[in-house]
This record gives sequence, structure tokens and C-alpha cells, in this order.
Amino acid sequence: MRYIDKSQCCKEFEDYINKKKTSYWKNVKSNIKLTLHQHLYYEQGGLCIYCQQQLLLKTHKEPDPKNIRSHIEHIRPRSVYSHLTFDYCNLSLACEGFDCSIPITQELPKKEFCEHRKANEYDKEYFLNPVEIKDIENYFFYDDFSFEILPKHEKGSEKFKKAEYMIKILDLNHWELVRMRKRCEQDVYKKGVYDKHDKILPPFYSMLFQLRLLERTTNTIPASSTHI
Ligand SMILES: [Zn+2]
Repeated sequence: MRYIDKSQCCKEFEDYINKKKTSYWKNVKSNIKLTLHQHLYYEQGGLCIYCQQQLLLKTHKEPDPKNIRSHIEHIRPRSVYSHLTFDYCNLSLACEGFDCSIPITQELPKKEFCEHRKANEYDKEYFLNPVEIKDIENYFFYDDFSFEILPKHEKGSEKFKKAEYMIKILDLNHWELVRMRKRCEQDVYKKGVYDKHDKILPPFYSMLFQLRLLERTTNTIPASSTHI
């Protein structure tokens, strides 16, 4: 997870909500949801707010369910925090709980991690909110051998417990996510170049940053590397 700056709201969404005064999320028009979806996509650099796998830009309203690869996530669940249903700072984009890069012709896997694992879980004592905690990346580190994400702070400390809680409720060490992180790291080594973009970040950005794989600008392997 990384900090997400919410200072640039989605104007079309805000205008619509202010005008319509609806109480139900399902009543928001699909074209407004699409605009919001795209705004959140770029705000998050194209990554899932929790696991940081790369998402696809949604371009159509109400697509076939088998094409859905991300959805608008209420960080504080609507079922408990109904007054935050339309609060821009409570809205984000999350993956569908599986490897979202799979082809649409393939049967969809089960939705097993991230928001689909978390559901309505939100312990306000322990939840690390990516739109509120500026140093959220410092709560975690990635093991460069196992590719697991682990709490960074001292075992037993409050910060350790919070990181542990987030890893557990989102199942961030689900075997599929671990496999994807390993594949991502290997891809960077194979390609040799980090494909930089102004708006879109590489998948598992925080991991690549921690493993110092974002500093690469040429098609060479760092001299200190022991990965190949
Ligand atoms: Zn995710």
C-alpha cells in the first residue's frame, strides 16, 4: 500500500452528488460512476489501492461481468459508515481479488483477496487507511526471497499489529499475489527497463521501490544483484 493524495476531487462526481442529493449508491448514474472510476484510476497510478496489482482502465459502462477487473471501493464500509457513501475521500479503486491480467476468454477465478477478502471489516483501531496515513509504506517490507509482505516495525508494537491486521484482512500473502509479485520482479529483470509513464505506475510499485528496481534506467542488471 502507498499513500493516496485525495486533494484533487472528481468534479463531475461532486457536481452530480450535490445536485441529485441521492441517498443510495446504486442510484448514481452509470456514466458518472464511469467518470469517477477513471478519475480514481489515474489518482492511484492505475494500481489497486490495497495489493498494488496493475488495473485496466475501464472504458465502458456496465460491462459484461466477466470483463470486470476493478471496482469502486468504499474504504470505510457503507454498511457501517453510510454517511461516507459519497465522500470522495472514502472512495478508491480495488481489484477483483484475483490476477486481473487474465484474458477475458478465461474462466474467472474465485475472488479471494483484497476488498473481496476484507468485505466490511474495518477495525478503526488497527485499519491503516491509505488516504490518511502518509507513511503507510513504512509499515511494511517485502521479503526479496519469498516475496511476502511483512510488518516492518518491532514485533508486538502497535505499528506491527496494524500492519499484521491489514495483511490478514486483505490476505496480502495469498499465494496468487505472492506469485504475481515474484513474476513482476522477474519481469523487471528480464526487460531491463522500467517502463515509466506520467500517470501509470508499474505494478507492485512499493515493492519495486523497496527492492531498488525503480532506479534502473538502462538495460543492465545492477552490479549488486543476486537475483539471477
Ligand atoms: Zn488488490
